[in-house]
Amino acid sequence: MSTAPRSQAVRKDWGHDESGCTFLHVDMDAFFASLETARHPELVGRPVIVGGVEGVRGVVSTANYEARRYGVHSAQAMATARRLCPQGAFLPVDHHYYSHVSHEIFTQIVAKITDQIEQVSVDEAYINVAPALREWKSPRAIGEWIRQQVYQRFHITCSVGIGSNMLMAKLASTNAKPNGLLLVPQARNAEFVRLLDLRAINGVGPALEKRLSSWAVTTVAQIQELSEAQVVRMVGSRQIGHWLWLACQGESERVLVTHALEKSIGQEMTFPEDTNDLAKIRALLRNCCDHIARRLREKQLVARTVSVKIRFADLTYATRSQTSRVPIQNSVQMMQIADQLLPAALAAWKRGRGVADAGASREEVSADAGRSAVSPTFVRLAGVSVSGLTEQSTTLYQPELDFDDTQENNETGLKKNNELEKALDAVRAKYGSSAVRRGATSWRDE
Ligand SMILES: [Mg+2]
Repeated sequence: MSTAPRSQAVRKDWGHDESGCTFLHVDMDAFFASLETARHPELVGRPVIVGGVEGVRGVVSTANYEARRYGVHSAQAMATARRLCPQGAFLPVDHHYYSHVSHEIFTQIVAKITDQIEQVSVDEAYINVAPALREWKSPRAIGEWIRQQVYQRFHITCSVGIGSNMLMAKLASTNAKPNGLLLVPQARNAEFVRLLDLRAINGVGPALEKRLSSWAVTTVAQIQELSEAQVVRMVGSRQIGHWLWLACQGESERVLVTHALEKSIGQEMTFPEDTNDLAKIRALLRNCCDHIARRLREKQLVARTVSVKIRFADLTYATRSQTSRVPIQNSVQMMQIADQLLPAALAAWKRGRGVADAGASREEVSADAGRSAVSPTFVRLAGVSVSGLTEQSTTLYQPELDFDDTQENNETGLKKNNELEKALDAVRAKYGSSAVRRGATSWRDE
């Protein structure tokens, strides 16, 4: 949740001249807490605090507006939040659910307007509506439509800021919260920013603030009176000085970067000869996992769902999927899941249902297929794919100590594996992709 300072003074009608206001910033209000309230209607009107389980990571992720009245805020220790608001509803973080709804909102609603979207976190995005204006006519109409759709379909509210650049759109949405829409006409950018605290400008942190205060500069209004060269001298950096001087006029050179997120990444390979040797099939899957994990790291993505595909000698095939509660980026995590899925995929043929549907449960796993050294049938091709992709930088990591109490799955183990595999990436980049490989068995006959 945004902790940027808001200003009552700017929460007003700034006029209706929308010309040039082609940027929207859409931000869900108290996203995690709102989603919990939406699926637990008995919580409506109560303070709701979503955060880490005590003893694991006792920090507030999101508090709804009712809870904020008691002084509860994000990043606060859960113990403090409980003391401040003992009557609150305290809920664990359900990232899987929040990511799912986020994906629905941005693909089912926002993407209907334009593909000019830069999603900056699970609950906020910038949109350049210039291309959509031919059809929509008014940026405000787009903002109102998004707000209405989000409310109707997901029973949560969002706020929308509209401005002539990304900075103004963000400042407007911050000050429209909660459940509001604020448009700042281009001609009033400087006037709007003048009313804000320096810290309200995204990017002004404590260090920069301190530096400026050593020059007795503490407000946006003061910077507006200075030349760019003076600001550059004060902050000691041409780049930061330029950016800050512009920002204090309500201007920004930031351009929208759209990420056309891939939906899945996969790798499959055909055996030189059909095989029923489980060790070979597993070695091939491991090879696929290595390859996919490397691609994920290159693209700075993480995955949630792992699927295994097997094509049998009779050309029928089976796929099995499993979704993990922790984000996946290394091949050890991926292979653990693939290993669990493999017996079920192989058993699909055994029971005469070659072309099988995805997502079978682990209960279907045939015990003998899991333990025997040979597959119940000959396999022509095997592969792995991952989906539920999100950007690493915007995926919240929650330790899952209850997930599986092995070295690989606790947080330290995950970090170690990620580090190890990054080192392997570097070796491969230098000496070629077959230079190093995990495990001893090859899936080819050598
Ligand atoms: Mg938000």
